[in-house]
Amino acid sequence: MQQISTSASGSSRITTQIRFDEDGKQFGFLSVPHSTHDSAYGRIQIPIACIRNGDGPTALLIAGNHGDEYEGQFALGRLMRELEPSAVTGRVLILSALNLPAVSAARRTSPLDGGNLNRLFPGAVDGDPTAMIAHYVESVLLPMADLAMDLHSGGSSLMYKPCAIVRDNGPDAFVRRQFAALKAFGGTLAYVTDGRNQGAERTFAAAADRCGVVAITTELGGGAAADPEGIHLADTGIRRVLHQIGILKSAPPAAPKPLRLMKVEGPRSYVLAPESGLFEPAVQLGEEVVCGALAGQIVFPDTPWREPVPVHVEASGLIICKRAVVWTRRGDCLFQILAPYDGRGLLL
Ligand SMILES: [Zn+2]
Repeated sequence: MQQISTSASGSSRITTQIRFDEDGKQFGFLSVPHSTHDSAYGRIQIPIACIRNGDGPTALLIAGNHGDEYEGQFALGRLMRELEPSAVTGRVLILSALNLPAVSAARRTSPLDGGNLNRLFPGAVDGDPTAMIAHYVESVLLPMADLAMDLHSGGSSLMYKPCAIVRDNGPDAFVRRQFAALKAFGGTLAYVTDGRNQGAERTFAAAADRCGVVAITTELGGGAAADPEGIHLADTGIRRVLHQIGILKSAPPAAPKPLRLMKVEGPRSYVLAPESGLFEPAVQLGEEVVCGALAGQIVFPDTPWREPVPVHVEASGLIICKRAVVWTRRGDCLFQILAPYDGRGLLL
């Protein structure tokens, strides 16, 4: 098969055999040039599926942005296998292992260059492999999309209650579309962020914003494990979103529960470890806390007679995320707390 360049700008060094404008179901790879001692002309082969049936909207579905987050990888692999062109109008692009080197290494970041893909947008056309992937996503894939989903979980260090996330810092009409997709995705919890706390303008969500594409991200579990509740939410939520934007023809089962919308309230939403040691938690994932409450304490296994250092929360709300690892260094995130949010009246 002929290897063709698909860069909209003509500048990406990543190539693919996928013909994005062809109807049908295609499996293939994005080929990222990576010349090494063992493989002089080697290429990283990132799996991609293109499922297209005529004109219509395009959805870009991604998992494996961070390699140690699994619920989305399971859900998108299943969708690749099961979704047929006859079931859709328009196009679905699925990448279940976007940062393949990180996925293969079961790590958040790439072992090839240390790159954290979700902190590298807009990427670099001739950068290290992770930066090249980011560049391809922002310059080639996102411009084709009407809606994008980037499925994350907490990774090796964090554990989340399954939830979906949107940014709400655009014009009202755009935020309304973001919220409509969020509501279609479903689940019991969702939150908004302006992106300033984690990753700023270097995340996939920020890239989607720059491209004017409605985007949902998720946190579906974590601890480098796989949560069946998170996988189920991804399986069902993706189909609801695809139906809501007019791609999936048949209506999937409705989201069963009311959605609780929350928000991140700046840096104080993140409880950081004041010392290095073992973190002994005093509160649970999903618990409601009030500002000033005891969240746990740091104890010191090498000097166990030393008085533990208490850790208090600096915001009131719901604990959406906790550290999944007991060993802790000063500055590690122990908890993330969400406050109630009215959605500016835009969540209908
Ligand atoms: Zn992630």
